[in-house]
Amino acid sequence: MNEFSPIEHLFRTFDETASILQQELSCTYLDALAETSENLFQQTILQDEISEVAKKRIQKQYDEAHLSRYSKEEIRQAYQLAILKGMQENVQPNHQMTPDSIGLFISYLLERFMKGEKGWSILDPALGTGNLLLTVLNRQPDAFASAAGVEIDDLLLKLAWCGANLIEQPVQLFNQDTLEPLFIDPVDAVVCDLPVGWYPNDIRAADYELRAQEGHSYAHYLFIEQSIKHTKPGGYLFFLIPNGLFEDGEADKLQQFFQKNVYIQGLIQLPESMFKAKQAAKSILILQKQGEGLAAPKEVFLANMPSMKNKQAVQSIMNKMNEWFKENK
Ligand code: SAM
Repeated sequence: MNEFSPIEHLFRTFDETASILQQELSCTYLDALAETSENLFQQTILQDEISEVAKKRIQKQYDEAHLSRYSKEEIRQAYQLAILKGMQENVQPNHQMTPDSIGLFISYLLERFMKGEKGWSILDPALGTGNLLLTVLNRQPDAFASAAGVEIDDLLLKLAWCGANLIEQPVQLFNQDTLEPLFIDPVDAVVCDLPVGWYPNDIRAADYELRAQEGHSYAHYLFIEQSIKHTKPGGYLFFLIPNGLFEDGEADKLQQFFQKNVYIQGLIQLPESMFKAKQAAKSILILQKQGEGLAAPKEVFLANMPSMKNKQAVQSIMNKMNEWFKENK
């Protein structure tokens, strides 16, 4: 093509056309990105109100893009780079996209637990931009029979919808508060980068066992409860959680809830180098919903992931994980 990699090349198409649309429509970059993505998918310029000059400039970029030449992963990554650029404008920490390094690791874990099975259903109840779910779907294109995502923020949901269209992944999308009743059948697997903080709706929280006795409840606790409720017996859940989840004042209640409803499979602390600050560091919690004929693993898989650059230490954790699978699965 030229000196750019395919991902950079496609990123430039998203970026340049989004910038033109941003100016023409006087909207945010992320809104414009969703618009240009929808155009690329529909293979037409949907914004009648923009000037003829802008239309010509955008069409030239689309003609040169040849979307069909790109793999689904290249499209996802280029789109993700454009979203990251847009998020630099202003985005709340709780809205941040799940980074690729974490998405790929969760995909790997899911693959191990699926053991080559196919036809699974999967749900992301905090879909955001869809990056985590789409990473998982791209990694195992034939493994999932259905996928669903729930997101309260209109713009993020629109970005997820456009992303899923561009990589031709059928995902059922719900634009609503996940903690309201969900019209989604129980799934085989949940992946979720939990939103962390207080849930402002005390009336709705009252329906949850993990509500606070007084004041606002933890949204992340309620998300865990809601996710377990929407998982089939024997299904697996992969949560990205704050490191201190089991250390705060209400953690006992969470532990008791786990004892009644799930088998904790593993807790993997991610390297601090993956996060901007030590306090922002996270772990992956793996649960299996209890069900007939199932039992807790002999031991919970506990690990502190080293930096991915330390190949020897990473290999040693992988060996430990292989042993754990031999013993427990
Ligand atoms: N995995 C996502 C991605 O790759 O973009 C990022 C998830 S982000 C950490 C958490 C998401 O939860 C945010 O997009 C936020 O808008 C959403 N969220 C927070 N509270 C919610 C609620 N009550 N119902 C639905 N979505 C909610």
